[in-house]
Amino acid sequence: MSVDVSALLGSVPDGLLIGGEWQPGSGGKPVEVRDPATGTLVKTVAGASVADGLAALAAADTAFPAWAATPARARAELLRRTFDLLRERAEEFALLITTEMGKPLAEARAEVAYGAEFLRWFSESAAHLQGRYGPSPEGTGRVIVTQHPVGPCYLVTPWNFPLAMATRKIAPALAAGCTVVIKPAALTPLTTSLFVTLLEDAGMPAGVVNVVNTADPGPMSEALIGDPRLRKLSFTGSTPVGKLLLARAAQGVLRTSMELGGNAPFLVFEDADLDRAVDGAMVAKFRNIGQACTAANRFLVHTSVADEFTRRLTERARGLRMGNGTEPGVAIGPLIDQRAVAKTHALVRDALDRGATLHTGGTAPDGPGTFYPATVLGDVPAGAALLREEIFGPVVAITPFSDEDEAVALANDTEYGLVSYVFTESLARGQRMVERLHTGMTGLNVGAVSNAAAPFGGWKQSGLGREGGDEGIHEYLQTKYTLTPSPFV
Ligand code: NAD
Repeated sequence: MSVDVSALLGSVPDGLLIGGEWQPGSGGKPVEVRDPATGTLVKTVAGASVADGLAALAAADTAFPAWAATPARARAELLRRTFDLLRERAEEFALLITTEMGKPLAEARAEVAYGAEFLRWFSESAAHLQGRYGPSPEGTGRVIVTQHPVGPCYLVTPWNFPLAMATRKIAPALAAGCTVVIKPAALTPLTTSLFVTLLEDAGMPAGVVNVVNTADPGPMSEALIGDPRLRKLSFTGSTPVGKLLLARAAQGVLRTSMELGGNAPFLVFEDADLDRAVDGAMVAKFRNIGQACTAANRFLVHTSVADEFTRRLTERARGLRMGNGTEPGVAIGPLIDQRAVAKTHALVRDALDRGATLHTGGTAPDGPGTFYPATVLGDVPAGAALLREEIFGPVVAITPFSDEDEAVALANDTEYGLVSYVFTESLARGQRMVERLHTGMTGLNVGAVSNAAAPFGGWKQSGLGREGGDEGIHEYLQTKYTLTPSPFV
């Protein structure tokens, strides 16, 4: 199905959604959205002032009691209807994601499918929430445990998965009975706004979801997080910003979920199936043009297979077509902005200056667009900045290791702990790695782990809490325990 881009952009609201009405807001700076493949202006949307943010919170607070009291089945059905609508309009959403974020259309379609799954998954969870009733051990009391929605939530999302990061928060929040204010990244606000119109079409009551865009997120976030009506902050983004918001949230002992940065190790052992490892590396590195928190950041490869792995991966990387994500066959779209290109290139230069070997890539083409080619670096020495920092670009950094203990030590030598990837044909080694690697998730002979049915999240400075799986809805619930005497004493 071909989509008319201007009709599509025309259908995206250009206001803020506060209390069920799309409106221009009260004078916040407008947010300009550009296509990173061309640099052209795609659309300008209203920017929220601090007062608009607080009005959105007031609307979420007003809507909360009725939404919390809405039967779980009805909340589930709203999510399920939205899932159906999203699938019907998948092609429009894919094109909108590519237009504002740059990823190749095939990957944007995969994001729509992934993002939609959170609606289906949490529509199923909503009706399955249960409490407990049972005797206290001494027999004199009865213990009742119940779950309650935490209340109005503030959801802050990044630009790299404009749809899936929104549905991964909105769906469990609504399933649990919470109302929300969502603040998408200023670089990619359009997908979230269009998505929220689907919730409206599916019958969402006014005030249950409110949308506030701003290019100056600090003051508004400060005001919302400091407001006692807010009961929960769920943030996905970089670790430095996450720490700032956590510190602010601590003042009010606010419930938080934090999905932060990563520095994923990708381990290839001497007993790996190299075809499988190279296939996994292509996904773990080049999906989303390397701009994923789960992107493989450090390739640790056993010395006996390092040359062969590097040769095969380099050949595949050279074959990746770079260009506008809307063009057929493109695998490397633009990076999100010029700053990302400059940062990626600085990391590559630093590694080369320290003695790494360049196998392919390494030079950004002249504009327009913010492109950086698939790049493979071998023999990256300890001390190179890209071993410590998230690269967030299509750059493979390979470091050889000589035994399992060294591989584990290198893999765990980071403050991050989101995901690791392990390639081995040995079951025992695979099991050892699962237990020895300090990450919240491990891809064992696979290069992508995301799944709505699984608890996504990190250890160490990669975050707090989980999204998806049976755990995801509990981030939006609080537990109450009631004691009552036994009816027999
Ligand atoms: P970012 O931290 O710059 O921004 C994330 C969000 O926070 C955006 O909405 C932004 O507007 C907002 N923000 C920025 N500064 C703020 C401030 N001072 N106060 C309040 N809000 C503020 O991150 P990004 O560049 O949008 O996204 C990339 C980062 O997100 C990477 O570090 C990546 O690893 C991480 N990420 C993590 C996950 C995960 O699930 N763990 C998923 C996707 C992305």
